[in-house]
Amino acid sequence: NIRAERAPIRQLDDAAINRIAAGEVVERPASAVKELVENAIDAGARRIVVEIADGGKTLIRVADDGCGIAPEDLPLALSRHATSKIDGSDLLDIHTFGFRGEALPSLGAVGRLTIASRAEGGEAAEIAVSGGVMAAVKPCARETGTTVTLRDLFFATPARLKFLRTDRAEAQAVGEIVRRLAMAEPAVGFTLRDVSGGGEGRVTFRADPVTGDLFDALRGRLGQVMGREFTENAVAVDATREGIRLTGFAGLPTYSRGSAVAQHLFVNGRPVKDRMLLGALRGAYQDFLSRDRHPAVALFVDCDPRAVDVNVHPAKSEVRFREAGIVRGLIVSGLRHALAEAGHRASTTVAG
Ligand code: ADP
Ligand code: MG
Repeated sequence: NIRAERAPIRQLDDAAINRIAAGEVVERPASAVKELVENAIDAGARRIVVEIADGGKTLIRVADDGCGIAPEDLPLALSRHATSKIDGSDLLDIHTFGFRGEALPSLGAVGRLTIASRAEGGEAAEIAVSGGVMAAVKPCARETGTTVTLRDLFFATPARLKFLRTDRAEAQAVGEIVRRLAMAEPAVGFTLRDVSGGGEGRVTFRADPVTGDLFDALRGRLGQVMGREFTENAVAVDATREGIRLTGFAGLPTYSRGSAVAQHLFVNGRPVKDRMLLGALRGAYQDFLSRDRHPAVALFVDCDPRAVDVNVHPAKSEVRFREAGIVRGLIVSGLRHALAEAGHRASTTVAG
């Protein structure tokens, strides 16, 4: 019995620590895609191209035209707890998706990762890490931006590999993540391509020419992602309470579904699945829908980052609001108002 013998206390090496962290951050190919696309958005990318093969198991590549990484920073990008996004002085004031500096070292510990990048006006360089072992930085040729290539995810942790589902199921999960992130970023163009020929082949969400109107851009993007049927059967929502803003589109009661599949909620641009928010949504529609019907919505709550804790878990999509009651009230009254107004318009149109 190994427990009976007292073993000396040892400090784990970085590779082991990163593999353990990877177990939390990276559950499946879709979670790797999420981390890489969020990094691209954080880098200010206008175009993001995601390629996968075999459901992302053998290949995930995310290319962006964002700010890039300087050659001397490449080893740091792969180091644990190294980030350009916060300085650690205020963990409540977070304006980016990332801030932990965990994703790239984790991915590099459980797969074969290459980062090729060029910062504006700088030299292009690349670095590779495989199973936690980092190679030297070397020059390469490319335009401004970053391409991260992740091959053979979980080759270094075969137990994880066994838990992955079929290529088709994993590809579908990747598609879902890309769609959800694309919904909140109408000004960014997204392409998702399955280079192994399976899945959906290729999906592109074009960034509409900016008219300057948030709702036009959002309507265009949501129409591409959720279908025109949704945007044609939804009302725009725009309500503010005590500095917290609710925007988006709420499906008409007549366009409801038998399940909650089409409920997309975002807090400060992050897709969330939060019980309080879903409860508020149910409350808002309760006078308009029977209990077995579910509305289709894409709603965005934006507030001071200090008013919401996104720090709950790296991969989980729960959030904690400081003023949950205000957020709840905002959703219930904002949606009811928008729906009642739409109902009023519809009835006056019929009457007139
Ligand atoms: P985090 O996003 O929490 O900072 P990551 O491990 O995801 O941690 O990334 C580490 C760092 O690498 C980031 O802080 C950023 O400086 C840099 N980086 C990662 N991806 C990109 C990218 N696509 N474009 C520019 N910089 C990037
Ligand atoms: Mg990150």
